[in-house]
Amino acid sequence: MKKECEIVQDLLIGYQDGTLHTYSKELVEKHLKKCEECNKVFNEMKKDEVEGSIQEQEIDYLKNVKRKISKKNKLLIAIGTILTIVILLNIVVFAYYYHEARKVQIYLNNDVTEEQIGDIKNAITNIDENAKIEYHSKEDALNELKEKFSDNKDLLSGYGGDNNPLNAYYVIDASMENARKIEGLEGNLPGIKKITTNLSYNPYEFILSNIAIELTSN
Ligand SMILES: [Zn+2]
Repeated sequence: MKKECEIVQDLLIGYQDGTLHTYSKELVEKHLKKCEECNKVFNEMKKDEVEGSIQEQEIDYLKNVKRKISKKNKLLIAIGTILTIVILLNIVVFAYYYHEARKVQIYLNNDVTEEQIGDIKNAITNIDENAKIEYHSKEDALNELKEKFSDNKDLLSGYGGDNNPLNAYYVIDASMENARKIEGLEGNLPGIKKITTNLSYNPYEFILSNIAIELTSN
């Protein structure tokens, strides 16, 4: 290789970048006009640069695709998390409803007889032999109310003994299906004043009203 070719080829990178001073630039241009060998080298360099930029574009494209995929994954994870929370909440709501709403309260007449109280209990057991039955006397009912309003003792201090406006009642924990049958006893048995359940509630409504009661009583 000629000495001048060597120098020019060393300068080609700077020439391509446009960083050469005027003198060197003129030297390269003058030489390229007459030297086929250096022209070849210079053309190779230009080709490499184009290929390099194509490669950069490909890398950029791949990075973009990767970014889009990870965005998509994040979205899927977010949707999955929300769905899981919704499903879990629904399980909690329905479990709570299933456990609590089926409880039946049977309020008894003031003049209910011991015999009628026994008959009512038998009727419940006939419907659901596994039902849990709790009897609350008038006194129990009053004490529960006093307990509930213990912050406001004056409010209920006048009540007690014969002066008790509350009714004795049964609380029955039966299966959902049997709770409905027990609910149907209303009007069929003497001694029953009223039967209440939360069975007709929509589960969401039921849980919301219970939360509201909790909040207002605390
Ligand atoms: Zn040359």
